[in-house]
Amino acid sequence: MEQMSNLLAMAMSAPPTRAERAEMESPQVSKEIDENKHRIRSDVALTEGWKMRTEPPKPKICQFCGKTLYHYGLKHFAGAHEVFLWLEEPEKCDCMQAQEYWKQQERLKIEAEIEEQRLKEAERMKKRVARLVKESGIRGRFINRTFERFEITDMNRRAYEKCKRYADSFSIMLPGKDERGNVTPPQKERNGLFITGSYGTGKTHLACAIANQLMQGGTPVICMTMIDLLAKIKNTFETDDSATEADVMKLYEEIPLLVIDDIGSEQPTEWGNTHIYSIINARYEAYMPTIVTTNYTGSELVRRMTPTYGGKLGDTRNAEKTLDRLHEMCVGVEMYWDSYRSR
Ligand SMILES: [Zn+2]
Repeated sequence: MEQMSNLLAMAMSAPPTRAERAEMESPQVSKEIDENKHRIRSDVALTEGWKMRTEPPKPKICQFCGKTLYHYGLKHFAGAHEVFLWLEEPEKCDCMQAQEYWKQQERLKIEAEIEEQRLKEAERMKKRVARLVKESGIRGRFINRTFERFEITDMNRRAYEKCKRYADSFSIMLPGKDERGNVTPPQKERNGLFITGSYGTGKTHLACAIANQLMQGGTPVICMTMIDLLAKIKNTFETDDSATEADVMKLYEEIPLLVIDDIGSEQPTEWGNTHIYSIINARYEAYMPTIVTTNYTGSELVRRMTPTYGGKLGDTRNAEKTLDRLHEMCVGVEMYWDSYRSR
């Protein structure tokens, strides 16, 4: 027993091996020692007279500092002093510019991977849109409502610029993900738009212009009137096949941009209000950007969104909760003027 604990003590106090020491001092160095068990640099192999199946590639010159960069060859097996394969790329230079260059290359590679991931995700999302709601809502008269076709006047210029800036910087409106895959808030906390104004001033045109620009850039968008949005949910359980109400709701919650046009102008129902609140609240929780347009504000909008029973206004809480969320999520864009005089 005593002998064993002595051995243990000895083992514990034994000086660390070279590899262990290197590991403690710098994990990078130890990795190199490990790699060099299996590979040898061409200049060393030549001076040590190693056998080789092919000549080593001609060394290259560092484009930054002019240092000679040799190629590594893979050792045939330990003790045979033979190189059986030369690596195609020479060693990386250790000068500062070269290190900066390789770091930059690594960054570019990661960015390209992220972009590829984004496009794949967008493709998947578009297929879901096609399967569940058939189309994004951008069709017919909406498809022509672009920024290019928007007639800028002195009155609508501010609203136009706000919306154009929003579309141009949309990437900072989207939430991110940390290394663990958890959702992180977007750079811009209030990442939605609440476009209000009088009838015919171009609210829908600007909302559609944002949607059109983003879709051109490959971002999946759903842009519908509140009536259509709700009708799509109803359709799924009245007609369909495989799509369920939950599938459509989940799509509304997860689409990168949801535009709800013309809230407050439909005939309100308890059912519709519950669903709209549920969508808005889910998007709020997940930091997903949302744009709404409406002809009404404040208490009038609450009234417009609340069903009446025998001429008496029903429970306004769902409408209030929905608007409360939207105000927290959105930046306001106001377009109030007499639309006929501005033409
Ligand atoms: Zn160099």
